[in-house]
Amino acid sequence: MIKNEVKTTCCYCGVGCGIVVKKDSNNKVVVEGDKDHPVNKGMLCSKGMNLHYVANDTSDRILYPEMRWSRSHPLERVSWDDALDRAASVFKSIIKKHGPDSVGFYVSGQSLTEEYYIANKLTKGFLGTNNIDTNSRLCMSSAVVGYKKTFGEDSVPVSYEDIELADCFLITGANPAWCHPILFRRIEKHKEENPNVKIIVIDPRKTDSANFADLHLQLLPGTDVILYNAIGRCLYKSGLIDEDFINNHTEGFKDYKDLIFSTSLKDASKFCGVSEDDIKKAAKYIGLSKGFISMWAMGLNQSVVGTDKNVSLLNLSLITGQVGKPGSGPFSLTGQPNAMGGREVGGMANLLAVHKDLQNEEHRREVAQFWGVDKISPKPGLTATEMFDALESGKLKAIWIACTNPLVSLPNTHRIEKAMKNAKFVVVQDISYKSDTVAYADLVLPAATWLEKEGTMTNSERRISYLPKEINAPGEARPDVEIFCDFAQRMGFRGFNYNSAEEIYDEYAAMTKGTNIDVSFLNYDRLKSEGTFQWPVNEYRHAGTPRLFEDKKFYTASKKAIFNLPTSIRNTSVKPNADFPLILTTGRVRDQWHTMTKTGKVSRLKTHFPKPVLEINPFDAYICKIKDGDITQIKSENGVVRVRAKVTDTIKKGVVFLPMHWGKKLQSDLNRANNLTNTHIDPISKEPDFKFTRVVVSKYKKP
Ligand code: SF4
Repeated sequence: MIKNEVKTTCCYCGVGCGIVVKKDSNNKVVVEGDKDHPVNKGMLCSKGMNLHYVANDTSDRILYPEMRWSRSHPLERVSWDDALDRAASVFKSIIKKHGPDSVGFYVSGQSLTEEYYIANKLTKGFLGTNNIDTNSRLCMSSAVVGYKKTFGEDSVPVSYEDIELADCFLITGANPAWCHPILFRRIEKHKEENPNVKIIVIDPRKTDSANFADLHLQLLPGTDVILYNAIGRCLYKSGLIDEDFINNHTEGFKDYKDLIFSTSLKDASKFCGVSEDDIKKAAKYIGLSKGFISMWAMGLNQSVVGTDKNVSLLNLSLITGQVGKPGSGPFSLTGQPNAMGGREVGGMANLLAVHKDLQNEEHRREVAQFWGVDKISPKPGLTATEMFDALESGKLKAIWIACTNPLVSLPNTHRIEKAMKNAKFVVVQDISYKSDTVAYADLVLPAATWLEKEGTMTNSERRISYLPKEINAPGEARPDVEIFCDFAQRMGFRGFNYNSAEEIYDEYAAMTKGTNIDVSFLNYDRLKSEGTFQWPVNEYRHAGTPRLFEDKKFYTASKKAIFNLPTSIRNTSVKPNADFPLILTTGRVRDQWHTMTKTGKVSRLKTHFPKPVLEINPFDAYICKIKDGDITQIKSENGVVRVRAKVTDTIKKGVVFLPMHWGKKLQSDLNRANNLTNTHIDPISKEPDFKFTRVVVSKYKKP
């Protein structure tokens, strides 16, 4: 049953647009942008505008629990009791025989905060293992490390309202015109009204974001650190730095200065493939601005040197003193709607709830005490790719995958298939049979989705919103929190008999009290009646906190921000060679979302890109004897993809691009970009190297 009109939040990207949901005369869900919402002011992008198709079409939904008794048997419908009793019995027996580290959970940045919190409490507090990680590891874990190293904690200092106060934007490793469209629309409008605003885009591809920029630095993939350092060098040489801020509010400047002067501008220009004049121009735009915002996403994070790229970019905000004041600051963009909420509740293998650290004994003790358990294991959990490595090697026996599709989204997908086949027990908790991962499940659990359950999410700017339940889930699908709590109780654990999502939220909010992400003065009543809030929301800040660090006191021991040096200024990815001469970078198209289990259902969203294509520069196409529209074969050391070529000078020579959305179910195995991608990860953030895989491209000839 649908109520008349409710307000909620878009379930796609981390922009977090407000949506009004109504029903039409046929009782079908219709959506429109919420004109009163501070994020989007009524606007919606193509994906958000078409959300009603996804909500109304349940033809692909998983309706009942299904189980197979052995791998040679098909999945069969079972009751929830049978399904969860089996899950509990298998988990108990594996843990008894092999210990708690033989099981793991792989969850999602699309989960609500309450779901994320419960999954972490269950795993870290009660199962006794830290083997819980999230698909957000694939998109923003390098940014988390960058913030922690620079500011002492994972804290995005800015708000969207800073956009209208800034006069210089450095957008790097991101294409917000396609991937964060409403955010980008705000930047466009701001520039249209204020032509003096400067926009710099750094990207190997001339994207729609780059087309709108005043300056596009089309760097070679992987050379970001040297480019940011070269900009820092020009800022220093031109006297466009904030000495007062550096002297009084930072540490480590001398070493940073030595580093940026260790490479000449000429060498940096040659190395990055960007002219000296353009580097100087970028520094001038940044240095002369009153409000400087840097924005980034996967292009920085998804790299073996993702942490190095992040700290090097953050150093530009420190050298110019552009943090903690209106219209300025570094702003990492989250790809998923609740990647930020996951960070708050410790949704990664190396974190604990409320921004506490697993490696800190006192933090472990505090969390254990709060949950009423003896201890939290000090052993770091397996991260996303490590978990599937451990399945492949047999160290991990059972995995519970909720709300994510690793068979399309993880790197080197053939290896993921092997790992899944090798697992003793796989639980897949999801909404749709369109997920390729369902085929590998021993137990399939139908989950409720957007509009079918209540909870909260946090967007890129720390804004918490409440999402009401508006329609009943089809069949026997249940909210994820109910599934996790039911399983926990069948495992014999106390502390999971909640009556509502609100009770879980209240427990989490109580845990935040006194921390830097304190939301102890924010409850469901306030969220329902007053709207959205940016954390912290505490006794001093009832209305929330749009901007952090206005007092210039950072969360480090010295209260100063830290200039961090990269461990390597050069990219450490495996370089192209004669056999694999081109660099493959993967990414997203405008109208699709992740692995297309939702957007792939909407016909009008397929018109922009009906199928994946390979972008290749005319020079490389000539060398490879490829014409526009030819079917190409792309090979890496890991696999093969076959798609048509789009010959375009919008991509840098030596680089090719494939979108990552398509999987087997939606096209064919040969359209899946992650067949090719390498398995290297950043040694600190453990984020995969999706943006740099060496490949060879040829025209496909039918045998
Ligand atoms: Fe949804 Fe993101 Fe589009 Fe806003 S910009 S409508 S949050 S997909």
